[in-house]
Amino acid sequence: MKEDRPCRPLAVVGAGAAGLSAALWAARLGWMPAVFEAADRPGGQLQAVHQPIIDYLGLPVRDGPELIRHFLAHLRQAGVSIALGVPIAGILPRTEPRPHFLLVPGRKTGPPDAGAPASTDRKNGGASVLCARAVILATGTRPRRLGVPGEALIAESAWSSTSRNAERFRGRAVVIVGGGDRAVEGALNVAPHAAVVTLLVRGAALKARSALRQKLPSHRNIRIFYRTVIRRIEASGGSGPRYRLLLAASDAPPSEAGAGKTVESLPPVLIADDVLLRIGMEPVLPPIWTEASEPGRAQAEDVFWAADEAMPEKTVPEGIWIAGDAALPASERSVAAAVGSGMQAAKRAVLWLEAQEILSEADAPEAGG
Ligand SMILES: Cc1cc2nc3c(=O)[nH]c(=O)nc-3n(C[C@H](O)[C@H](O)[C@H](O)COP(=O)(O)OP(=O)(O)OC[C@H]3O[C@@H](n4cnc5c(N)ncnc54)[C@H](O)[C@@H]3O)c2cc1C
Repeated sequence: MKEDRPCRPLAVVGAGAAGLSAALWAARLGWMPAVFEAADRPGGQLQAVHQPIIDYLGLPVRDGPELIRHFLAHLRQAGVSIALGVPIAGILPRTEPRPHFLLVPGRKTGPPDAGAPASTDRKNGGASVLCARAVILATGTRPRRLGVPGEALIAESAWSSTSRNAERFRGRAVVIVGGGDRAVEGALNVAPHAAVVTLLVRGAALKARSALRQKLPSHRNIRIFYRTVIRRIEASGGSGPRYRLLLAASDAPPSEAGAGKTVESLPPVLIADDVLLRIGMEPVLPPIWTEASEPGRAQAEDVFWAADEAMPEKTVPEGIWIAGDAALPASERSVAAAVGSGMQAAKRAVLWLEAQEILSEADAPEAGG
């Protein structure tokens, strides 16, 4: 395997708010990091924020891209550059001649984006393996999946916005899976247009905040099935509704708070024109490979992060830190928390590098790996 040498002291994977903050802090502390971003633009989720961000202290902005521009201007001043279009597919810890990590780029998907800022480098991912002594993973989250047969049928539209194009649900039977803020918000957005909106809630009660819950009764076309899961999704065929959802009772315990339809009245099959998933986000972290599962060698089961919301420290190998949404509980995910968490990861990584007596410059080129 071809490796990029020399080995950098610190790599940051992901150039959202957390990764950019980590990169700035590391640079400011004298440890210029190598920054890798899978997408063709930096900014992560902020690229998708089309409404004003009014809760980032001291810097209210029209939308996410405006905040990204502020962040990038700051990074430019600090001399940080970002390698775009470099998805890190996996991380291979190595111990010889001294502990380091090989970051293996995956294949870049999608066409190059001509609108990328001038301060960023463009690399074609998949070419070389990258080496770093310490790594900060600021790779964000992805929508959680149901994990049931037939889910691929709804993959394209399952996360489509309900606020920007609610009109497209006019006259349709819409099923929204989830009971949190985003599920209820989605139901409220769609209800004025849809024929019927069905919320399928795994638990015995909605978790959405009360301000949203209180609006539900004013929409007579919203119905809620509690303690319900989808077992399977099938295409219904013909020109009518598109999906048949095979339902089952969930194992959630009953609750007084779960006013609404009970499991007894649950139909075994629900027909829907649209199925929207609002069941939360989960951390997206590149797998840690063992030597045996390194691509091109004997295939073994990949070692995945035991990632859960609390992200116990012991699941993270020494020399790697996780920052931003990937490390934060859902209720705390925000730009402010991502920026703070990026700072924290950078400071911890720098302290660790100093304790290892690793040079802040890249190591001298080495042979082998
Ligand atoms: C529609 C919307 C509105 C929001 N509104 C607000 C708001 O008003 N106020 C607020 O505080 N927060 C808001 N948020 C939340 C806020 O944007 C996020 O909490 C924050 O931006 C998360 O930053 P992050 O860097 O942790 O993750 P992300 O922004 O998700 O960045 C992760 C980056 O890592 C990259 N990446 C992932 N895997 C790899 C890999 N293997 N290799 C290389 N790169 C990789 C991704 O491409 C991405 O660029 C909103 C979010 C959304 C989606």
